[in-house]
Amino acid sequence: MKILYNLEELEIAKNEYKQKSIAFVPTMGALHAGHLSLIDRANSVAENVIVSIFVNPLQFGPNEDFSKYPRDIDRDINLLKSKKVDYLFCPNFTKDELLKIKQISAEPELANILCGKFRKGHFDGVVTIVNYFFELIEPDYAIFGEKDYQQLKIIEAMVNNLSLNIKILAAPILREASGLAMSSRNVYLNQSSRLKADEIYKNLSSISEEIRSREEIQGIINSYKEKFINSGFELDYLEYHWSRIFIAARIDGVRLIDNMPA
Ligand code: AMP
Repeated sequence: MKILYNLEELEIAKNEYKQKSIAFVPTMGALHAGHLSLIDRANSVAENVIVSIFVNPLQFGPNEDFSKYPRDIDRDINLLKSKKVDYLFCPNFTKDELLKIKQISAEPELANILCGKFRKGHFDGVVTIVNYFFELIEPDYAIFGEKDYQQLKIIEAMVNNLSLNIKILAAPILREASGLAMSSRNVYLNQSSRLKADEIYKNLSSISEEIRSREEIQGIINSYKEKFINSGFELDYLEYHWSRIFIAARIDGVRLIDNMPA
């Protein structure tokens, strides 16, 4: 695995890989098995795999966890070495370099619901960086997890709107044995909040089952909203879109998201 720390090193790598098919896996690091499953998917479709690790400041609001977002590049590099990864791109942009990046807006219809309502500008920051990385790397494929399903829809729309020649592939959510969706932010959970977090999957599974067997979706959702709140969750949303149930909830100050078909 070659590690590329800046644009010059990426240019040299591009000369090496330009004849090969490339699958790109963008991440913010603090890698877990969910990220690694995206790398397996990437290897199944392309000759070379490029992973990026970049904690994107543009997608964090002023009161969010950018500065304390978990970072451990040495651990991440070791994990990546357990897989076939041809290149790791982990740039360190200065403020000036970030300001020069062409700003892109996320499709408002997709970006103003769910997380977009609670994280203003978040998806504009995501598409700006993803589009920049697409321009730099020029992959044939890019793999995104359904864990961030709204982000996946927004990236698909961006690729469509900009007529980019990149195939977006969706990877299923990898979960802990308890059902909790794997997330870099799970490290913030202490033992008791972790147990509480397990209720997310249990309740989403029940909601999903109930929605499939009954009609009044809103009634079902309202009763589970109450259930979550009574168990001590602070709910940002519990909503039904694209035939899936979506949740964003805070437990002891840690914000978790999840979704599943329903
Ligand atoms: P992040 O590092 O959180 O920005 O995530 C990088 C990519 O990994 C995104 O496409 C996520 O949707 C995906 N991802 C994160 N957690 C999981 C998971 N538990 N299962 C599958 N993909 C995931």
